Amino acid sequence: MEIDLNVLAYLLGKGKHYVEKAVQGTGYLPRTVLGVGTNLIDTDGNIDLLAPKPRATYEKFLKPLLFDVPCQGLSAPEDCQGNGRIEGELLLKSYRDEELRCSACRAAIASHAVN
Ligand SMILES: [Zn+2]
Repeated sequence: MEIDLNVLAYLLGKGKHYVEKAVQGTGYLPRTVLGVGTNLIDTDGNIDLLAPKPRATYEKFLKPLLFDVPCQGLSAPEDCQGNGRIEGELLLKSYRDEELRCSACRAAIASHAVN
C-alpha cells in the first residue's frame, strides 16, 4: 500500500484536526504523530525507514487516516451505499470538504439532488 503523500501532507497541515481527533484521549501527543508524518514526507512515504516506535505510532494513528476511513453514510454510517470505507482517490477531497463519504454515497446524494 503506497501512501498518498498529498493526503498525508494535508493531514499534517490544514487537516491537522483529523489527527488531533484521532489522538484525543489516547495519551499520545498530536505533535508526536505529526512528527512521524513529517518524517514520512521526507522519505517519500517509505515506512520501512521508520524505527519501531515511530512505526507503531504510524500504524496506530496515521495508517487508519490514510487507508481505513469510514464513510459517514447518507445520514449515518449504517446507511452507507458502498462498503463503508472511503476510496483512496476520494480521501483528499473528503478531508478538504469535511464530507467523509464514499463514491456510492456521493452518487446517491447527487441523484437525489437531480430528482
Ligand atoms: Zn458510503
